[in-house]
Amino acid sequence: MAAQETVEHKYVYDFAEGNKDLKDLLGGKGANLAEMTNLGLPVPPGFTITTEACKAYLTTGREPDGLAGQIEAHLESLEREMGRKLGDPDDPLLVSVRSGAKFSMPGMMETVLNVGLNDRSVVGLSAQAGGNDRFAWDSYRRLIQMFGKTVCDVPGEEFEHAIDDAKRAKGTDNDLDLDADDLRGLVDSFKKIFAKHTGREFPQEPREQLDLAIRAVFDSWNAERAVVYRRQERIPADLGTAVNVVAMVFGNLGPDSGTGVAFTRDPASGAQGIYGDYLANAQGEDVVAGIRNTVPLEELQRIDKKSYDELLGYMARLEEHYKDLCDIEFTIERGKLWMLQTRVGKRTAAAAFVIAGQLVDEGLIDLDEALHRVNGAQLAQLMFPRFKLDHEFEPVAKGIGASPGAAVGKVVFTSARAVELAAEGEPVILVRRETNPDDLNGMIAAKGILTSRGGKTSHAAVVARGMGKTCVSGADQLDVNIPAKKFTVAGQTVNEGDVVSIDGTTGKVYLGEVPVMPSEVVQYFEGTLDPEQTDDPLVRAVHRIMTHADATRRLRVRTNADTGPDAARARRFGAEGIGLCRTEHMFLGDRRELVERLILAGTDAEREEALAALLPLQREDFIEIFREMDGLPVTIRLIDPPLHEFLPPLEQLAVNVAVAQERGEDVAKEEALLAAVRRMHEENPMLGLRGVRLGLVIPGLFAMQVRAIAEAAVTVVRAGGSACPEIMVPLVGAVQELETVRAEAEKIIAEVVGDSGVEVLIGTMIEVPRAALTAGQIAEAAQFFSFGTNDLTQMGWGFSRDDVEGAFFWRYLELGIFGISPFESIDREGVGRLVRIAAEEGRAARPGLKLGVCGEHGGDPDSVHFFHEVGLDYVSCSPFRVPVARLEAGRAAVTTTGSDSR
Ligand code: ADP
Ligand code: MG
Ligand code: MG
Repeated sequence: MAAQETVEHKYVYDFAEGNKDLKDLLGGKGANLAEMTNLGLPVPPGFTITTEACKAYLTTGREPDGLAGQIEAHLESLEREMGRKLGDPDDPLLVSVRSGAKFSMPGMMETVLNVGLNDRSVVGLSAQAGGNDRFAWDSYRRLIQMFGKTVCDVPGEEFEHAIDDAKRAKGTDNDLDLDADDLRGLVDSFKKIFAKHTGREFPQEPREQLDLAIRAVFDSWNAERAVVYRRQERIPADLGTAVNVVAMVFGNLGPDSGTGVAFTRDPASGAQGIYGDYLANAQGEDVVAGIRNTVPLEELQRIDKKSYDELLGYMARLEEHYKDLCDIEFTIERGKLWMLQTRVGKRTAAAAFVIAGQLVDEGLIDLDEALHRVNGAQLAQLMFPRFKLDHEFEPVAKGIGASPGAAVGKVVFTSARAVELAAEGEPVILVRRETNPDDLNGMIAAKGILTSRGGKTSHAAVVARGMGKTCVSGADQLDVNIPAKKFTVAGQTVNEGDVVSIDGTTGKVYLGEVPVMPSEVVQYFEGTLDPEQTDDPLVRAVHRIMTHADATRRLRVRTNADTGPDAARARRFGAEGIGLCRTEHMFLGDRRELVERLILAGTDAEREEALAALLPLQREDFIEIFREMDGLPVTIRLIDPPLHEFLPPLEQLAVNVAVAQERGEDVAKEEALLAAVRRMHEENPMLGLRGVRLGLVIPGLFAMQVRAIAEAAVTVVRAGGSACPEIMVPLVGAVQELETVRAEAEKIIAEVVGDSGVEVLIGTMIEVPRAALTAGQIAEAAQFFSFGTNDLTQMGWGFSRDDVEGAFFWRYLELGIFGISPFESIDREGVGRLVRIAAEEGRAARPGLKLGVCGEHGGDPDSVHFFHEVGLDYVSCSPFRVPVARLEAGRAAVTTTGSDSR
C-alpha cells in the first residue's frame, strides 16, 4: 500500500499531516482542523480530501485514479484509531462529511452527519450508548434527513412536515418530547419520503453513503448559488472544494451533552469577552437552525464547569496562535469537550479596527500588522451616517445605492430651488429624472440626490460619489414630473417640500424622516471629537491606526477641491495640498454672461474686455483657496471643457428665438448665441476643441487664468501668507503644445511675481495616451505630471464613460472582460501600463519629476496600491476619500503583495 501511495498523486491528508497554511489544498475548514490537531486540541480524528481531487473530478466527471484506494486506506487507519468500523452492526463508527473551500461560501453543500448508520447499525449505536434507543433513532433520522436533502435534493420541508406531524400526534411542540418509538416511526416516514423523491431505497451500505456524500460535495462547487456568489465576490471559479471526513462525536446523548458556537471577541463591536451560544442535548446543526432556544455561552459555566474552563483555555490558545479573533464550533459528549471547527472570524468594519487596536495593546501584533488587518473599504463604511431603522419604516422604492450615506430632506425638483431652500438652512433632497452639469450647484446644496433613471455610473452617481454625497439613482418606481413639482410612487404623491429619506448604501427610499445616526469617525476626522478624551474604542483605534498609516506611507495625499470650503474640509481630513482644482465652475452661474460675451466677441477688443471682467473674479476664487491651503501646494487646472458647454442647449435657444420673434421682441443676441451654438457643435466633444487646444486657439484665455493665479498668490504672500501654485495644462498630447503655453505663461508670471518670492510651477496632465507614450519629451517642458486617469481610461479603451457604463458594462462584467469597472479601479495591465511607462520615461528625462494622480482612482484602495508600486509622489481624491487614501497608502507601504481585503 505504502509503496503504491508514493507513486500516486496524494489526494487525502490525515488531520495530523496538514496545517493552517494549506488552505489552497485542504480548504479553510480542513487546514484549521489540522492546525488544531497539531496544537494538541481535542479534535475528533479524520482526514481531508483535497481540492485537487475535486478539480480532477469536476474536469473529468469521475473520481481520479487512486482516490478510492486512498480514502479506503485513511478510513482503515481512522477505524483502527477509533477501535470501530464504519457501519459495524454491533459497534459502528460514524463520520461526518463536510465541505470546506478556501473561502467559506454560502450555497455550497454543507454537511452530512452520522454517515454509517443503517437499519442494523442503529441497534449497535444504541448499545454503544448504553442502551440509549432514543439517541440512536434520533441520529438515524438526522442522517436520512440531511443525506436526502443535501445529497439527493429531496425537498427539506417534507421531512420537517413529518416531524411536525409526529409532534402534533404527541401533543407537544418540543422535539425532545419525541421518544425512541416516535423517532423509529419518523425514520420510517423519512425513508418513504426519500424513496418517493429518489426512486430508490435509502442506501444501507455505509461505504456507498460515504462515496455519494463526497461526490455531492464535489458537485456542489458548481451549484448555481455557489457560482453566483463567487462571481459577486470575485472568487476564482477554479479553486474547487475540499471534503472533510470526521469521526462523529455526539452532543445529543443527553443533558450532559450539547453543542455550541463561540467567538473569542464580539464580532459586531470587537469588545473583549465571551460570546457564543450553547444548546444542550443537540447535534451541531440545531444551533444555527434555531430549532430550540440556545442559552448564552456563559451559562455553560453552570451546566458543565469543567468543559467551560477547558473551552476558555482553548479559546485563549487559539487567539494567541492565530493572533486574531477566532470563531469556534464545539460539541460536548457526556462531559468531554471536542473542538469541531475554528477560523479567523468575520467581523464588522468597526470590530476590525477595534480588534486590531486591542491586539496591538496585548502585544500579539505590531502596528504594521494592525494596518494590514483593516482596509479602506471598511473605513469608508465607518464614515457614512446611518439610518436608525428600528421601527415602522418601510421603503416605498428601491433604486441603486449609487453613493452611500443616509440623507433626509425636503424634496425639490430643480437646482435653483435646492440652492434657495438650502440657503434658508433647509436640508433638501434634489429629485430629478437624471442630472446634468447644470444641476451641479443644486447637487452641492442638497443633502442627497435621488434620480429615477441611470445606474451606478450615471452623472448623478459619479458626481455624488465624487462629492461624498448620498445618492440613490435609477429608482424607476418613481414617476417624476419636474414641471408639476411632484413625483408619485406606490400610489402616493410627493410634492415639493415633503420630506423623504434616502439610503445611498441600500438604494432604499422612505417617505418621511428616518432618524439618522452621525458617524463618530467623521466627527473625529472633522476634529470635533478628541481621540485622547473619548472613551469610544472605535475612535481611539481609528486614530491610532491612522496615525501609524501617516507615519508609514510614502505616498502623499492631496485632494480634489474647487472651492475654499471644500479645501478647508479636505485639510481637516488630512489632505496635504490640492491635486486638482478645476476652474470651470468659475465660469458658471452669473458669470455665464461673461463667457457668452467672450464666445460672441466679434473683435479683439470685445474679447479682451470679457476676459478683463473675468480676471478679478477668478483672482478672488484663487485667493480664497490659497488662504485655506496656506503653504500647501495647489494644482490648478486651466480651463478644460469645450466652451459650448457653457452655452444653453440648442433646442432651448431655438425655442427662445421663435417665441421672442413671435412677440416682436429684439432677438439679435439670442440669434447670435444660436448661431454660435450651431457653429460650435461637435460630434465628439470629448475629443474636440477642449483643454490645451482652447488655450492655443482663443487668444488671452489661458493668459487671463495664469495672471489671476499669479496675482492671487502674490496677494496672499504680500498679506503674510504662503502660496504654492502649480499650473496644470490639460489634455496635452505633444510637447510642443505645452512649450507654447508655457512660454506665454512664464512671461506673465515673471511680470506679476516680481520680487514677491512667489514660485509658480508649470506642469501637465497625462491623460492622452500619446502623452504617456512621449512622456520623455514632455518631461523636458513639464515641472510635474499629474495623471488624469479618467480620461486616460476613456481614451485608452476608446470609450466614453457616459455612453458605455449603462450600455454594456454589465455584459463585460458578466463575461469577465472586466473584474471591476476600469473607472472604479485602475486597469493595471492596460491603462496602468501607460502610467508606468510615463512615470519611468518622465523621470528618466527629468530626475525627480513630481508625479501625482488626480482621477477618481486616487481614492480607490486597489488603485492606491498600484500608484504606490509605480512610485508616484501623491494621489489626489475627493475630500471624503482622503482618509481612505491615507490609510491605503500606509497599507501599501507595509504590504508587498497588494491589498488583501477579502
Ligand atoms: P458549516 O460549514 O455549515 O458550519 P460544518 O461542517 O461545520 O458545516 O458542520 C455543521 C455542524 O455539524 C456544525 O455545528 C458542526 O460542529 C457539526 N459537526 C460536523 N462534524 C461533526 C462531527 N464529526 N461530530 C459532531 N458534530 C459535527
Ligand atoms: Mg461549521
Ligand atoms: Mg480630463
